[in-house]
Amino acid sequence: MTIAKDKVGLIEYTLTNEAGETLDASNGNPLAYLHGHHNLIPGLEKELEGKKVGDKFTTTIAAADAYGERHPELTQTVSKDMFQGVEELEVGMRFQAQSEQGTHSVEITAIDGDQITVDGNHPLAGMPLTFDVEVVGVRDATEEELDHGHAHGEGGHQH
Ligand SMILES: [Zn+2]
Repeated sequence: MTIAKDKVGLIEYTLTNEAGETLDASNGNPLAYLHGHHNLIPGLEKELEGKKVGDKFTTTIAAADAYGERHPELTQTVSKDMFQGVEELEVGMRFQAQSEQGTHSVEITAIDGDQITVDGNHPLAGMPLTFDVEVVGVRDATEEELDHGHAHGEGGHQH
């Protein structure tokens, strides 16, 4: 059986950035995902198409096919008053922010007195990402998984 739309793929992976630093890895707990349902970044899903158990590959995916390009307009400087109730602000802290587009996550990237710079880009936006992948399982999705749009069970959604 090969990976195709509506199959559940089980993969071991290591994700590294351009500098070769490991950002994420499955470490023996394979990730289960439902193929063709945007569970993975587009570039990785495309590479997995047609693969079978035992296939290994390394691929570098451009930002546009990963978490997208960085949008400078998502970075803004706001007053410290915006963070009422937070005792101490530090670079690297993440917050949920409300905007007209809904809730999104922002990260504090700089603090200059009362001026706080926050960045609403995905932390991995604008970066090419390298995935080292091994396919360790492929199976048909259940009706329920197709209905939910994601994989269940080990390595998938637990609910
Ligand atoms: Zn579900």
